[in-house]
Amino acid sequence: MLTAPRVSPVFYQAIRCLRKKLPAAYPVRVRTVEKLTGRGLQDGENVGATLGSCRFSPATSKKTGYFSISIVRGPETVMIDALLEEFSHCLAWSHRHDAEDNPNWHGPEWGVAYAEVVRMWRGVK
Ligand SMILES: [Zn+2]
Repeated sequence: MLTAPRVSPVFYQAIRCLRKKLPAAYPVRVRTVEKLTGRGLQDGENVGATLGSCRFSPATSKKTGYFSISIVRGPETVMIDALLEEFSHCLAWSHRHDAEDNPNWHGPEWGVAYAEVVRMWRGVK
């Protein structure tokens, strides 16, 4: 019988730390997946070449907006690296930044957020 690979508890610790220490403007949902589908990928991103994705779902009359991060299950350090990358998108997000055809998805706002995220994580490890 096949069993899903166990996800390291350190991965879940990273999620809790990020949510607590660097809260995003909207709730961040994180799930682990066997592999990514095209959903959530940005233009030019290749499904086979990326280990995570981040998508924003705007608020509707029935629910608040939220971010969805998907991380491909694999070795702990690879999963955490992907999480830090994707969580940075949640922090860098703005109404302007989130324009559908944003060519600057890894622009300066994201770079600053990524630096913050990496520094936070190194500080707690
Ligand atoms: Zn990214």
